Amino acid sequence: MIESRNAKILLIYTGGTIGMMKDPETGSLKAFDFNNLLEKIPELKLLDCSITTISFINPIDSSEMNPDYWVQIADIIEKKYNENDGFVVLHGSDTMSYTASALSFMLENLNKPVVFTGSQLPIGDLRTDAKENLITSIQIASLMKNDAPIIREVCLYFEYKLYRANRTTKINAEHFEAFASLNYPELVESGVHLKVNKQFLLKPNLRRKLAVHKTMCTDIALIKLFPGISEKVIETIFSSPNLKGVILETFGAGNTPSSISFLQILKSAIERGVAIINVTQCSGGSVLQGKYESSKELEKLGVISGKDITTEAAVTKLMYLLGANVTNKALKTIFESSLRGEIT
Ligand code: ASP
Repeated sequence: MIESRNAKILLIYTGGTIGMMKDPETGSLKAFDFNNLLEKIPELKLLDCSITTISFINPIDSSEMNPDYWVQIADIIEKKYNENDGFVVLHGSDTMSYTASALSFMLENLNKPVVFTGSQLPIGDLRTDAKENLITSIQIASLMKNDAPIIREVCLYFEYKLYRANRTTKINAEHFEAFASLNYPELVESGVHLKVNKQFLLKPNLRRKLAVHKTMCTDIALIKLFPGISEKVIETIFSSPNLKGVILETFGAGNTPSSISFLQILKSAIERGVAIINVTQCSGGSVLQGKYESSKELEKLGVISGKDITTEAAVTKLMYLLGANVTNKALKTIFESSLRGEIT
């Protein structure tokens, strides 16, 4: 524990490149003891906050992530909520946008910052981006005014920018600037000073108490359309047993093929109670159901518009709402509204 009179920060290590080192024999990256992570960054002792740490017993590459791990993270935050002012979650970058989006829905009425970060290069690497990402994430999570946290939402910090987590997507497997938030501006920019864009921060109702939702329904599918996609394949996915929802990644402003047979597959699925969400496969911009002839029918069938939501936020929002047993009737209205700032 690093002592300070100021903000109390809990650092949660789940795994990912940030805490890995090269196995000298095989040359491949392996997770190492989290305590060594703090030894590797003596600069942490200079920060004006108290840091405690907690680690997954077996840190993972984030490609192993799943809702059980999301619940583990939510559990830690719930148990340590009152005794900390902010949380920094170290996570592999590959699926960070999914986990961070999921947590944004699972943590309702969050009044403190939860900042996800990671790195493209391991912390021991000479040219690592890990130190800057970690140190600035802790500084951002420590920002206080009149003894209260300035940021009160789940965010993602990478390469000098803090984003709303459920607006992010990993866009690059090599560049240090690995994430983008194309439909929502940065919350904080890190330069010589930290520039907080206060007008874009989520303003939760401070009177409500944190509610942690831990049931995520995984009976869902994600279908990315492409010209020539086989209707047989689509039909097979839609007839999977127990299927409750499908995210349909469509073209441009939410367009799909308009053949009767394709629309029939969607219609009978909706009649069976399967929720269908229309999300654009473009990285930026929004679904506008009805703008073009080809999406007018979708609106009539009762397809839910994902508007400008990311696929990551759509997947996790659907898991959350189905897990909460929201009725079919209410699902469209709730999904099309902003719950945690994920939709404009
Ligand atoms: N494969 C790693 C992970 O996502 C990559 C990273 O940490 O950035 O866990």
